[in-house]
Amino acid sequence: MALVENDPFENSRKQVHDACDLLDITDKGMREYLVMPNRVLRFKIPVMMDDGNLRIFTGFRSQHNNDKGPYKGGIRYFNPKGGVEYMEREVMALSSWMTWKCAILDLPLGGGKGAVYVNPKEEKISAGEKERITRRFAYMLSEVIGPEKDIPAPDVYTTGKEMIQIMDTFGKLNGNRYTPGVITGKPVPVGGSLARNVATGLGSAYCTREAAKTLKIPLKGAKVVLQGFGNASTYAGIYLEKMGCKVIGASDSKGSVLVPAGFKMDKMMEHKSKKGTVVGYPGSKKVTAAELLTAKCDILVPGALENQIDAKIAAKLQCKIITEAANGPTFPEADPIIFKKKILLIPDILANSGGVCISYLEWVQNNQGYYWSFDDVAGKMETTIVRGFKASYEFAKKHKVDMRKASMAIAVDRVVKAFEHRGLWP
Ligand code: GLU
Repeated sequence: MALVENDPFENSRKQVHDACDLLDITDKGMREYLVMPNRVLRFKIPVMMDDGNLRIFTGFRSQHNNDKGPYKGGIRYFNPKGGVEYMEREVMALSSWMTWKCAILDLPLGGGKGAVYVNPKEEKISAGEKERITRRFAYMLSEVIGPEKDIPAPDVYTTGKEMIQIMDTFGKLNGNRYTPGVITGKPVPVGGSLARNVATGLGSAYCTREAAKTLKIPLKGAKVVLQGFGNASTYAGIYLEKMGCKVIGASDSKGSVLVPAGFKMDKMMEHKSKKGTVVGYPGSKKVTAAELLTAKCDILVPGALENQIDAKIAAKLQCKIITEAANGPTFPEADPIIFKKKILLIPDILANSGGVCISYLEWVQNNQGYYWSFDDVAGKMETTIVRGFKASYEFAKKHKVDMRKASMAIAVDRVVKAFEHRGLWP
């Protein structure tokens, strides 16, 4: 019996076991070592609200693995339907995916993830309240994070604003030490990196370009459907458009739309900023979430949340490439169906790794106190992500498996090697 419905941690467990099967890792203890987070912390976050009432929020930080380097991964503010118990399992899964995401790029980092159970958008949390939640959470996290320990970053509904508040709180608690390397995704004037803001979507576009090359699909005129219209999917759309693609679908928390003739990303963004949603875009047709995902297109970019593509939707997919800009958008049972349909799925740990890749470069710049240009940073990310794509594609071909299994196997192998080098102590 799963602890919660659609338990994302069970998905991550299955993926680790699949990788172990491929790598002939039969040792039960080793498998469990790779599945389980090193520790999962649950925090009570008391915050004085604007109306004078004290409200208790629940926060989490899961530190999954640090064999290759400090824990790394975002902090999200969200309220998944399953409640706080679901969120704990979600954070555990997300921290595991961060371990594999850093390892597939061979970054000297491990995996972690954090969250606060709150939806700042729906609940109309004021800027002051949000800052108090963030700083109180940072205060509680301060014992377990640090540039050589655990380095958080933005995720769903958190931005550079929260990151700099965490850096500021951490520094003040540590004898006023300037510690930019404690967190990434900071605003550029205060230790952030150029290209970090666009990083996830840009990385997704690079991966998609490589996938299209291998399948010999011309990007010029290729039809793209974006699920989600947040940071990752928007920049994926912008860069794919720059590469010649035509975006024909988009969605957000208010609904999904298809525009058969295609739309310009800047026009859709203008509409969304005016109306608060992509719905109602001139010339668009409102469709269900399932209709959006199964629309006929070349490239589908699930860029919102986890658990979107189940077996039923997978059976109806009409795309050639799936670029998982979100974390965990596909249910495990959908993977074999997608593979059988010969759709090339670029798994999340690769497709959205541009974000953590530039986070890594931000941390390097912070540690050396010397900053690079946009092109330097984007170029380093492109080299790293293309290398990850090629290694994973070749492994997949050689072992006749999908790219998720291939990427996971490469990543798991690297973590196992790091573990073996370091040994077990105490
Ligand atoms: N939250 C992003 C992710 O899921 C970025 C993590 C980071 O930059 O550390 O990959």
